[in-house]
Amino acid sequence: MSGIRIHPTAEVSPAADVGDGASVWHHAQVREGARVGPGSIIGKGVYIGADVEVGANCKVQNYSCVYEGTTLEDGVFVGPEVVFTNDRYPRAINPDGSLKSADDWDCKGAHVCYGAAVGSRSVVLPGVTIGRWALVAAGSVVTKDVPGHALVVGNPARQVGWACVCARRLNESFGCPACGRRYHRTEAGLAPADPAS
Ligand SMILES: [Zn+2]
Repeated sequence: MSGIRIHPTAEVSPAADVGDGASVWHHAQVREGARVGPGSIIGKGVYIGADVEVGANCKVQNYSCVYEGTTLEDGVFVGPEVVFTNDRYPRAINPDGSLKSADDWDCKGAHVCYGAAVGSRSVVLPGVTIGRWALVAAGSVVTKDVPGHALVVGNPARQVGWACVCARRLNESFGCPACGRRYHRTEAGLAPADPAS
């Protein structure tokens, strides 16, 4: 492993895999079985749960909680204090009052696709897929799947438009006023009008 920076106050499990060039900052915790891809940055106070997959070149900002079952593909941005939940039917106890154990629940995390961004203080519900290059506005509660390049806002998060790879909002004809890229509709959301772009 080379070029890895792990702050002395971070707690990285010996059974976690941190890729070349990745950084894990102050007081972050990376649990056993987790994988942090090459070049990714894990910010101060972040929690990366057991067996979580973080791809290459991701940025997970301060105090975000990426709980067990979550998968972040390459190039995903997670703003500060985002929470990825993983329990669709949350209870501390069973109907008889006994404490639930690790076997008493169904862990189901979110899947965040390549290049997508989740804004600060958002909450992502269990089992949701956030599509490629999608943009979740700050403070959103994501309760259902988000198409690729969709811009979603609010609680529950609703689509209000489309986002470019440069994170600017597209116009009505799926063009970007900032960088000039163009897109067309697909079943999965949007795709570049010119596959080479
Ligand atoms: Zn653009």
